[in-house]
Amino acid sequence: MLKAIITLVFVLFTLNSEASSIVHLKRFGILSLSPSIDNLIFTFDRIDRYRFIMLNDHYWYVAVPEKIIRITTPMIPKGNVERILVRIIKGETRIFFKMEPGFKYKFRIVLSKNHHFLIIRVEKHEKENLVKSTFERKVTKLKSKPVIVIDPGHGGKDPGAMGLFGLKEKNITLSIGKYVAYFLKKDGYKVYMTRTRDTYPTLADRVRLANRVKANVFVSIHVNYAPRDRLRVKGLEVYFLNTTSDKRALELAARENGMSLSQIGDLNKIILSLIQTTKIKYSKVLASDIYRYMLIYGKQVYRSYVGKGVRQAPFYVLVGTRCPSVLVETGFINNPSDAIFLRNDRFRRALARGIAKGIEVFLKDNRISFAEPLGRSLKS
Ligand SMILES: [Zn+2]
Repeated sequence: MLKAIITLVFVLFTLNSEASSIVHLKRFGILSLSPSIDNLIFTFDRIDRYRFIMLNDHYWYVAVPEKIIRITTPMIPKGNVERILVRIIKGETRIFFKMEPGFKYKFRIVLSKNHHFLIIRVEKHEKENLVKSTFERKVTKLKSKPVIVIDPGHGGKDPGAMGLFGLKEKNITLSIGKYVAYFLKKDGYKVYMTRTRDTYPTLADRVRLANRVKANVFVSIHVNYAPRDRLRVKGLEVYFLNTTSDKRALELAARENGMSLSQIGDLNKIILSLIQTTKIKYSKVLASDIYRYMLIYGKQVYRSYVGKGVRQAPFYVLVGTRCPSVLVETGFINNPSDAIFLRNDRFRRALARGIAKGIEVFLKDNRISFAEPLGRSLKS
């Protein structure tokens, strides 16, 4: 797919018009949550109303009725957006978007309560996929074996956090992940791993796999890093997806997502707009089941293994998946006592046993979570 990078910086001055008929678009960005989902985020000084018009199946525009939009930000096409054009027509500025043709697009538009942010979520569908979903739902209901996707964080060119004793996060996550898969398969579960070697699937690849195999549970495995106070900060954290205002959780999510803190802020806003309560409810239960058993099994090897709690943060890999999803931060790679044990194979196996046990308990207690695919509300 050829994507021309067009940078449009329009500063439109209209000398005669009154200040009130000008709206200022201060920032614009496209955040792609998966290959089929793009979020277009407009930051205005303030808008009261907007118009959204579909011209055909892949051409649409937004405008603020009867207002000139002063644009002081680059508008760069990305994801499934191929072109962006700005025109003044009938006294208003229209921002046109051309999507990749040949697909169906579904839109969800949210204007934030404070009237600053307009978020347009565009989801791409294959044309025939729109029809088959009823059949697909029946098949999923009949399927008895739950599908579990284990995602060892980082890999390949991305080592993740680097710690004491030459430890690299990517190696620890892979070895724990393999043990988890081993324990679950032994108990008869269907397990997929996002990687089984030292390779680098992108975050979007990982999400895509989970959705393709219709995962019922998604667990991403990571190792934490303390930017400050590494001698004191240690222990286990299990995260589920949600917005947060906690600075440390935001820093962690930024690091794990490979994003800047300001991009994380945008992700936080998006999550607010598409918050999916069923998925979050189940993810929270899954997180506490896994947390509980990781501590029980972990402490059998590492007696002073600390639990820092079940927490929430906007992690990329947890946004796009359509099933209960959590992210495990097993310990701090640069804390001396955590690092000694993270290096130890027996401890890794104990953690893996805890993760597997937590997943199994969750699946047994929450049959509804795989009888009724949660993905539907994300598709909205
Ligand atoms: Zn990580």
